[in-house]
Amino acid sequence: AAKALPYGVQLFHPALESRAVRRLGLAADLRRALDSGELEVHFQPKVSIQDRHLIGVECLARWQHPAHGEVSPEDFVAVAEHTGQLHRLTEVILTAGLRHCREWADAGRPLSIAVNLSARTLLDTRFVDQVNGLLLRYQVPASQVTFEISEPGMLGEIERALPTLYRLRDLGVRLSVDDFGTGASSLSYLRQLPVHEVKIDDSFVQGMATDSGDLAIVRAVIGLSREFGLTVVAEGVESELTLDLLAELGCEIGQGYFFSRPLPVERLNMWLSAQTEP
Ligand code: C2E
Ligand code: CA
Ligand code: CA
Ligand code: CA
Repeated sequence: AAKALPYGVQLFHPALESRAVRRLGLAADLRRALDSGELEVHFQPKVSIQDRHLIGVECLARWQHPAHGEVSPEDFVAVAEHTGQLHRLTEVILTAGLRHCREWADAGRPLSIAVNLSARTLLDTRFVDQVNGLLLRYQVPASQVTFEISEPGMLGEIERALPTLYRLRDLGVRLSVDDFGTGASSLSYLRQLPVHEVKIDDSFVQGMATDSGDLAIVRAVIGLSREFGLTVVAEGVESELTLDLLAELGCEIGQGYFFSRPLPVERLNMWLSAQTEP
């Protein structure tokens, strides 16, 4: 057993500590932001690489803190995870996404949405019923909703998460493995998950034009995903060169600054009308 540390010994690195304290301070503000509508959703297009038509949009949470300015989603998602607000965060983003989904459909422009889930949400037994309730409330077909779950997070508790993945799949929503390649899972592992889509992490996509190792990874992921009948999405597409390479390798869908940054809904709607004009 570990020896007891003398009283007062510092266990944490000061930089970590100040980050923890900052996050603690943000916890109360986040609670308020989630209830007041201060937390917003931006939408980033997912585009067909073959013919450039719009496949759907990814919902990305945005928080403009009144005092600190923009807080990165990575930071406030971590705050939500550590302070029991994850469920509420997911609910707020999913609700906003479905509300817009309903509006686009009513305007004669149906659009699919993708929402990010923390792996931890898959351990929440209420989640599937809640998703079902929201789909009914907004009258959005389940097939128009994709949940993106980050590969490294998904791996950790896969045994406990699997039942939720199956229940979501049975509900008819689509499931996507996000940031693929950054975790430790082997490619063959993909076959064992009840998922429809794989998103290749932007770090490989951005490197593929200059780094033969990254290119090899992207090629392998695209090849195997197609063998397994999975849709492949490349995230972080920033240049035409990358796009051409992806097209050559047979990647179906791209997302990234080359097409569009994540946009607030008004700007997305402008982007949409510009796309459909002759
Ligand atoms: P992610 O799901 O991998 O989202 C993609 C991130 O890459 C987004 O950062 C997006 O703005 C950025 N991005 C998109 N295209 C490009 C590009 O061409 N180049 C570069 N360099 N970056 C690009 P963002 O919005 O800061 O989100 C970061 C992460 O925060 C997300 O990574 C996701 O894991 C998490 N996140 C965001 N919203 C939510 C949410 O509602 N719920 C949960 N659980 N996590 C969320
Ligand atoms: Ca994502
Ligand atoms: Ca990603
Ligand atoms: Ca990423």
